[in-house]
Amino acid sequence: MKHYLSLLLLLLPINVLGQSSANSSTNTDSMLELYVFIAVIVIFLVYKIIKFFHDRKCPFCKKGLALEIVDEENLGRAKTRREKHKDGSYDTIYYYKIKFIKECKYCGGIVNVIKVVRGDS
Ligand SMILES: [Zn+2]
Repeated sequence: MKHYLSLLLLLLPINVLGQSSANSSTNTDSMLELYVFIAVIVIFLVYKIIKFFHDRKCPFCKKGLALEIVDEENLGRAKTRREKHKDGSYDTIYYYKIKFIKECKYCGGIVNVIKVVRGDS
């Protein structure tokens, strides 16, 4: 998820440059672009907040902010991906399947969640 955020930050200066150099486009166009950009960020943040609460809701006692990761288990490599750098070199990125064991701090219910996680995070 960190990577999406840095991608958004990369888009910001491009947008600003586009506004200052494009004299032919009307002011309304660049304002619209800015609104779309802000809307994307807001939607992204709302999604993250909903996900934050959803991930921590206990399915047994229905209490919010109840689940905490108590253990995690590496289930092995899920996939590999080659990432190209600007200078033409490649990095091999490994993704691992991780089983997160979450426990409800109210009722003690156990929830297993399997996620694919980048090897370096
Ligand atoms: Zn619970």
